Amino acid sequence: MILEMAGVTKSYSTPGGAEARVLRGIDLRIAAGESVAITGPSGCGKSTLLNIIGTLDSPSSGRVVLDGRETSMLAEPELSRVRSQVVGFVFQFHHLLPQCSILENALVPALVGPDPAAAETRARALLGRVGLADRLDHRPGQLSGGECQRAAVVRALVNRPKLLLADEPTGSLDREGAESLAALLLELNREEGTALVLVTHSPGLASRAARTLELRDGVFAK
Ligand code: ADP
Ligand code: MG
Repeated sequence: MILEMAGVTKSYSTPGGAEARVLRGIDLRIAAGESVAITGPSGCGKSTLLNIIGTLDSPSSGRVVLDGRETSMLAEPELSRVRSQVVGFVFQFHHLLPQCSILENALVPALVGPDPAAAETRARALLGRVGLADRLDHRPGQLSGGECQRAAVVRALVNRPKLLLADEPTGSLDREGAESLAALLLELNREEGTALVLVTHSPGLASRAARTLELRDGVFAK
């Protein structure tokens, strides 16, 4: 299992003093290499869940075991080491650095890695794989939204994460761009053996994952 969550809850205190219970007891097991889509209405806690999986946020209670390590028991800097070794992130907006080339952007996570030369070889190969071979020296502003999102996918994969977390990665693209990005994520999931958790509003895109889960009222609908 790349991920095991048991009884995970997350609450926020609201300005009025009441507790907003966003996640109310999430149990989730994801096998190595698996693909899972998570759907649910806006505000239901999808990003909160993904951020807890990726150790960007911590649960209020419950257990999270990521690649064999109980992250709910870890603190920084150990946590950021696990995060950078195990997880890749893709968000709704690409967050590429505008002054850097596409190749430089793809290499950002590898700056802290052990082998910069190997990372560059991998980044070049992946950028070729996603159709950006002739865009390596371009800046993000010279690329389409879909191309930037593909570069962000390469950046997320450059350190060979075991788990790719994609939070509405097609949300800023038109229908055609969304279709092709989702297809790419699922192809890379199979080719690279990287487990994929894909948050999406689109039932059509979700149905392409091996498993679909619907988040409703803080738990997965049965
Ligand atoms: P989704 O990604 O499904 O749209 P989110 O996980 O972003 O939903 O948010 C779920 C709920 O938690 C929302 O009601 C949101 O307002 C609330 N929330 C998220 N982050 C915080 C925070 N840092 N402080 C307080 N409330 C938050
Ligand atoms: Mg969200």
